[in-house]
Amino acid sequence: MKSAPEYSAPRTLEEVLCQLEGATARSVLLAGGTDLMVEFETGRTRPDRVIDIHRVPELRGIEERSDGLWIGALSTCSDLLASDLVRRRAAILVAAADEVGAEQIKNRATIAGNLGTASPAADLVPVLFALDARVRLASRGGRREMAVSDFLCGYRENRRRTDELIEAVILPPEVVGERHAFRKVGTRRAQSIAKVVVALSLRLVEGRIHDLRAAAGSVAPTTVLLSTLARELEGVRPKPATLEAAARLAVRTDVAPIDDVRSSAAYRREVLYRVCRSMLVELVTDAV
Ligand SMILES: Cc1cc2nc3c(=O)[nH]c(=O)nc-3n(C[C@H](O)[C@H](O)[C@H](O)COP(=O)(O)OP(=O)(O)OC[C@H]3O[C@@H](n4cnc5c(N)ncnc54)[C@H](O)[C@@H]3O)c2cc1C
Repeated sequence: MKSAPEYSAPRTLEEVLCQLEGATARSVLLAGGTDLMVEFETGRTRPDRVIDIHRVPELRGIEERSDGLWIGALSTCSDLLASDLVRRRAAILVAAADEVGAEQIKNRATIAGNLGTASPAADLVPVLFALDARVRLASRGGRREMAVSDFLCGYRENRRRTDELIEAVILPPEVVGERHAFRKVGTRRAQSIAKVVVALSLRLVEGRIHDLRAAAGSVAPTTVLLSTLARELEGVRPKPATLEAAARLAVRTDVAPIDDVRSSAAYRREVLYRVCRSMLVELVTDAV
């Protein structure tokens, strides 16, 4: 007979951190449960311990701080949609949150859970890459931060230690003139897993592209930064042919899509190319 996992529901962050000191690689933090409940049901995850953090008040809240926009780990997609602060600072994060499942899922699905699962098809993750967001990790030993793009390190893998939890996601201070775009291609409006998902951020200074950050999901084992696209377009005056050529090169070099039940690798590459090209044109339309 399988033994049931140990379950606890601490009420403070300090209590969670104490409990995490005894955690193993099989222990899980339960936030909204939208991924985990499915994984428990299918047997993909068989935890020795479940630490339910859903009632920990310190992990909630969205506020502007000196180092950026602090988004508490338990912020749900519905919280992001309802936040004027997020809408003003990062409308593409709101757009991505709006693509996550139906209302019931949006009400439970948290930003930390999206990073915890580290699915290559996660909708919030490409946006966090494009915005150069940081993840803040807490343990009894202290706090540390790293770029979200460094935190995710493989197929459904991240760099969280077993004694740590995600406390918040932090969006860097606003950069004047930054332009953003987000697009998800799926089979239908609600509840669809992305075939391709893309987020872009760039600045246009005196008619030239600068600081492009582009990220794509569902085209590799993990969300990827399109670094070739960024390199090819840095300092460039955008012309349709230049944007097309950079997007073509990026889909050849930066991604590694697979054939699966949802799409073929060739289809994903072609869609990614078209989506990147049209998003770029839209973002710099006043300079093309
Ligand atoms: C019907 C359905 C539709 C969906 N549609 C979409 C979609 O369109 N787009 C999309 O991106 N996702 C979708 N998902 C997946 C899911 O809703 C998201 O990944 C969600 O953000 C997970 O958050 P959660 O709070 O429910 O995570 P949970 O299930 O509670 O946890 C997920 C993982 O994150 C870890 N974790 C949670 N909180 C923390 C923390 N604070 N620190 C460290 N680790 C933590 C957990 O231990 C676990 O490994 C869907 C899921 C379902 C069931």
